[in-house]
Amino acid sequence: MRFEIVTLFPGFFSGPLDFGVLRRAQAMGLAAVKLHDLRRYTGDRRGTVDDRPYGGGEGMVLKPEPMFDAVAALGVSAREERVERRETVVLLSAQGSPFTQAVAHELAELERVVLLCGRYEGVDERVNDLVCDRELSIGDYVLSGGEIAAAVIVDAVVRLLPGSLGNADSSRFESFGVREVEMGGGGGPRATHGAGGLLDYPHYTRPAEFRGVGVPEVLMGGDHHAVRTWRRRKAIEKTLRNRPDLLAGAVLTEEERAILDELRREMARANPVP
Ligand code: SAM
Repeated sequence: MRFEIVTLFPGFFSGPLDFGVLRRAQAMGLAAVKLHDLRRYTGDRRGTVDDRPYGGGEGMVLKPEPMFDAVAALGVSAREERVERRETVVLLSAQGSPFTQAVAHELAELERVVLLCGRYEGVDERVNDLVCDRELSIGDYVLSGGEIAAAVIVDAVVRLLPGSLGNADSSRFESFGVREVEMGGGGGPRATHGAGGLLDYPHYTRPAEFRGVGVPEVLMGGDHHAVRTWRRRKAIEKTLRNRPDLLAGAVLTEEERAILDELRREMARANPVP
């Protein structure tokens, strides 16, 4: 899989892409990241990439020509052929649709993902209209440039590529992971992590006691069924506390629904509405 990142600051990426899973996936040839300096695609000697906004207002806007020329130089297919060729061109934008784990899975199926990084007040809208397949936002806040967003997308997608993680199940059974709940031996769910649309459960490692706080007994008892059940309960609890919006789409057994109702009642008792 190949990422092509068009940016005013190619140097930004030395660092974020050079460690851990990303470095290994590139070394193994699972993913390649190519950086393209937007300034190379300007028509004048001064390398002008921006101009004042029509209609007035704050700041500067990235001109359309350099982005167009950069994408053309990459030899990206015509829009109507991109699905078949498994290519896509993405504009990073605070106005984009949310980049979620589901979108990361979609992108991980492709062969080439072109990421266009904006700066200043953004990119002339005609780039979005004429060249891009989609606009993606990594969250409801405004960054000063698309580079961090591009690095986030590369990271989230690369770790989904088969072979990039030591254990393929790691990317299935984590927060926002697989929707189905696999049942294991003993009647408990096999997927003990954030499967079924829940957030991941809390993790512990040695020491067994740290600053007076011990690891929950159940995790040290060796009863796998009890461990799974505890983890599912904790995942439900964490999701209810931090991301209740995810519960509407979560896959829960009847028993787990009862746990959720009980947790809701507990929470309501602890925080009574005045
Ligand atoms: N004027 C724009 C607005 O209010 O939506 C903000 C422009 S921002 C300062 C400059 C660039 O940062 C954008 O063109 C985009 O590429 C990138 N950017 C900012 N926030 C982002 C986000 N949440 N997700 C993805 N890219 C973002």
